[in-house]
Amino acid sequence: MIRKTKIVATIGPSTDSKEMLKKIITKGVNVCRINFSHGSHEDQKKVINTIREINKELGLFTAILADLQGPKIRVGKMKNNGVELINNHELIFTTIECLGDDKKVYISYQKFPKDVSVGESILLDDGKLNLTIKSTNNKDEVVAIVKHGGMLSSNKGVNLPNTKISLPSLTEKDLDDLQFALEMNISWIGLSFVRSADDIIALKKIISKANSNAKVIAKIEKPEAIKDIDAIIDVADAIMVARGDLGVEIPFQEVPLVQKMIVKKSMKASKPVIIATQMMESMIDNVTPTRAEVNDVANAVLDGADAVMLSGETSVGNHPILVIEAMDKIIQDVETDDSLYHYEFPPNKENIDRYITDSICFDSCRLAHRVEAKGIVTMTFSGYTAFKIASFRPKAGIFVFTGNEAILSMLSLVWGVKVFLYNEFVSTDHTIADIKHFLKKEKWLQKDDLIVNIASMPIQEKGQSNMMKLSHID
Ligand code: PEP
Repeated sequence: MIRKTKIVATIGPSTDSKEMLKKIITKGVNVCRINFSHGSHEDQKKVINTIREINKELGLFTAILADLQGPKIRVGKMKNNGVELINNHELIFTTIECLGDDKKVYISYQKFPKDVSVGESILLDDGKLNLTIKSTNNKDEVVAIVKHGGMLSSNKGVNLPNTKISLPSLTEKDLDDLQFALEMNISWIGLSFVRSADDIIALKKIISKANSNAKVIAKIEKPEAIKDIDAIIDVADAIMVARGDLGVEIPFQEVPLVQKMIVKKSMKASKPVIIATQMMESMIDNVTPTRAEVNDVANAVLDGADAVMLSGETSVGNHPILVIEAMDKIIQDVETDDSLYHYEFPPNKENIDRYITDSICFDSCRLAHRVEAKGIVTMTFSGYTAFKIASFRPKAGIFVFTGNEAILSMLSLVWGVKVFLYNEFVSTDHTIADIKHFLKKEKWLQKDDLIVNIASMPIQEKGQSNMMKLSHID
């Protein structure tokens, strides 16, 4: 059986050589994430081209995700690369650049003194350090009291969970990175610190103005995004539960239920959903995961996530291959459990434009389930039916054939989807026979396996799927 849940791996110094990229892709990475918080365009271009070279060599369609930093706030450089903040001492945050010490630090957010209110929290370094605002001069300085101190080193991230941040959703750096990603024809663009659906709409406008097919992943890591989650899921192409910042911005104990809520809503909307951060964190150093990490990955799979993501584990970790192997093993084992496969969310009649296609996709899954078919085969140009079929989480393999090269690697993120390039559109009968022959020849299916084909008739019009056929592999 093909592994259903996809693996996203962040590429960094541990994995950016051709040799390592080839190894992790062969071991099962479906999507390579490039974190635009780090590295130069020159380095990123090299990685992108290498992944594409490997795809060609291995006949794969590994996707690339360009993850934009968004309005991330940071402190500046610190004296001796770090100073100790002592509990109950005062610390000044200034918007004028300086070398930080235990009295004053630079913050990369010019309107910070105007936007904050007394009593709000400042969290530093993923919430390890915690301060409360005492006063602001509304111009360039904010005084805070250290509530929970510790070492503060250079360029650490700042989270302001109570503050209404007035920074734009796309910074100058993001716009520059976006242009680069679009020039490089990247299929998935992630946006960090999404606050509302409008952030996604603005990003999609730029993408469509550039005549690009790139799809957008909304990273959910702010309380405002949780409040606007329905509208965000509606406009985004995929969602990421970015638990690193999310667990700092909201009380960490709320993250598990938020994760389950977002997975369920995304699945219902047929939008892929990724669970990210600290999934196998201890394997940055260790050769095996903790039992809690094994359970975390397993539970994300059981929740119904399309993909699970690795960050430091593959970008800077010591055992990237072992991490992929371990994650693959956990997923494969959990996927033997039948509770993962379900046929909820029947199509909504109000969606008149798509009601026929949606019904065909839904019932292809129900039929495949009842007759224990081994595969559901769809032809798609936009990828719509692939997203739709996947959202019903069938046990049968989802084999997607498309002549649209632009969507081949994009579909690698989607739960259960195995994609193939196919360009012949002679007749429905011919295409179905041809594809069945191909799937048997390539050993995806065997003689006597049942498969469900869905297609659009007449096939040459490449219209919406409107027919379903059940047959055996000869
Ligand atoms: C996160 O915060 O969980 C996350 C994925 O964001 P990043 O790794 O880009 O900081």
